[in-house]
Amino acid sequence: MTGRAYVVAKQAPRVEEKAIAESEVTLELERLQHALEKSERELQKILQLTEQKVGSQKAKIFEAQIMILSDGVLFDSIRKRVKKDLRSAEYVVHREISKYQQVMMNSADEYMRERAHDVEDVKNRVIRNIQQDKLISRFDESSIVISELLTPADTILFSRNEVLAYATDMGGVTSHAALLSRSLNIPSVVGLKEITKLVTTGDLIIVDGYSGTVIIHPTEATIARCNERKEEHLQFETRLKEIRDLTAQTTDGKIVQLCCNIEFSEEALNVHAQGSNGIGLYRTEGLFLRTENYPSEEEQFEEYKAVVEKARPHKVVMRTLDIGGDKVVSNTNSEENPFLGWRGIRVLLDMPDVFQTQLRAMLRASAFGEVWIMLPMISGVKEVRRAKESLEQAKKELRSKGIPFDENIRVGAMIEVPSAAVLAGEIAQETDFLSIGTNDLIQYLLAVDRGNENVSSLYQEFHPAVIKTIRFIIIEAHRAGKTVSMCGEMAGDPMAVLLLMGLGLDEFSMTPYVLPEIKKIIRSVSYQEAEEIARRVLEMKTEDDIKDFLRVNLHTMVPELLIE
Ligand code: PEP
Ligand code: MG
Repeated sequence: MTGRAYVVAKQAPRVEEKAIAESEVTLELERLQHALEKSERELQKILQLTEQKVGSQKAKIFEAQIMILSDGVLFDSIRKRVKKDLRSAEYVVHREISKYQQVMMNSADEYMRERAHDVEDVKNRVIRNIQQDKLISRFDESSIVISELLTPADTILFSRNEVLAYATDMGGVTSHAALLSRSLNIPSVVGLKEITKLVTTGDLIIVDGYSGTVIIHPTEATIARCNERKEEHLQFETRLKEIRDLTAQTTDGKIVQLCCNIEFSEEALNVHAQGSNGIGLYRTEGLFLRTENYPSEEEQFEEYKAVVEKARPHKVVMRTLDIGGDKVVSNTNSEENPFLGWRGIRVLLDMPDVFQTQLRAMLRASAFGEVWIMLPMISGVKEVRRAKESLEQAKKELRSKGIPFDENIRVGAMIEVPSAAVLAGEIAQETDFLSIGTNDLIQYLLAVDRGNENVSSLYQEFHPAVIKTIRFIIIEAHRAGKTVSMCGEMAGDPMAVLLLMGLGLDEFSMTPYVLPEIKKIIRSVSYQEAEEIARRVLEMKTEDDIKDFLRVNLHTMVPELLIE
């Protein structure tokens, strides 16, 4: 994708003195109001979360911050100063609140000095919200967004405008922001370390999502070459349409299921467009990241029902909320090690209201098509049992109200924590299916943060330990008579397909746009060959050996693939 860069500064808000014209005052005051309301909504949500997690005593800080926001005298004087001094809202907020803060800092009372930090937090939150509002309206033209780091919430926010591509300093390819941009069909290259230093707003650049490269100030010849490659890819994709309605079946008759991973209800139509067998992972966090408060049961039900209706007659595997890690719903209190912290099923089991609301919404959607429920971040049997009890409670409530749902709804667990992999057999006995989440499983198994570009070379799909673990999970689940799917990015990696087939995986769920290529690979080989490949790979000791072997085999068996 070729376009002009727009560099987003994402550090602590920087504020410069900026004069505004009289005609801009109304808009400036509207922005201020909007930012105040947004800040309050954010703080209310954080307050609610904190209360549920650590109790109302600790949550008092946020109550105090909300009170500062509703200080009519302070904000009236800020509004007056914007009008009178003709200065930007963020500048006046910064100047006036800093004065107030200084008075508190100089106080002899320790309590007052402590409160000065809350004032600082409120000030930064309001300024950030004013600036974000301006940033959004600045995207009049389509741009390539360059930033240090993107959060999943930023990715959604920016994509309301015409974003041609993303390129970031930090982040890994399986970070949730990168996955989201894939879902939004926006090319992205992440973890470039210093792209924000090398590029200035307005520079012409190319972001090549196929090869993961960025070219700054490309020559005419480079642009032409990139366009040619893009054309080649498009032609290949057109050719793949011929097999869209065919089964994913090997030459010797073994059939596997190919499903789509989606984040938004709009994407559900891909199920048919890409010739898949359903939705193998519906990440429900999108809805929670888009709304500032937790979506109500009704809002969730409408969204889930829309997905089910679009995917019909195919199944939809809905995953219960997986916040935490790098997916933070507004600026909650941060944790030292978020990926090892309050995440996925742990959050839901601690917040029964949020869990019940979501389960009821999912159950209600199951009256309109085939829904399976999947639990994220399971680390042992006890969590599965507790989650199933919650599900029973939600069913009971709907039954008592006479609301229809699928009584036999299937419940599965994601296997993405090493302890769950070790207990795959036990967990399989308690559930209807397993789904391997390699994005997390790899990071936890190899102790490599999936979003940290400094260790990205150690994040290895083809690490022998990863492959042996996958094999173990499949064997254990099959022994318990259950099917195994994989919904991590590895399932959509052309290099991994033959190996995973050979290991006996039943279902592959992936970003929709790679599905036709994966189907092509499966239809080009025999199961016997895939088993032989898996057997050979299991004897290898390093990722390099495994990758070389798989690359050569893929090239020979499916020569028409365009592998980067
Ligand atoms: C995974 O961990 O592989 C997975 C599919 O879940 P997510 O990427 O949403 O964490
Ligand atoms: Mg995961």
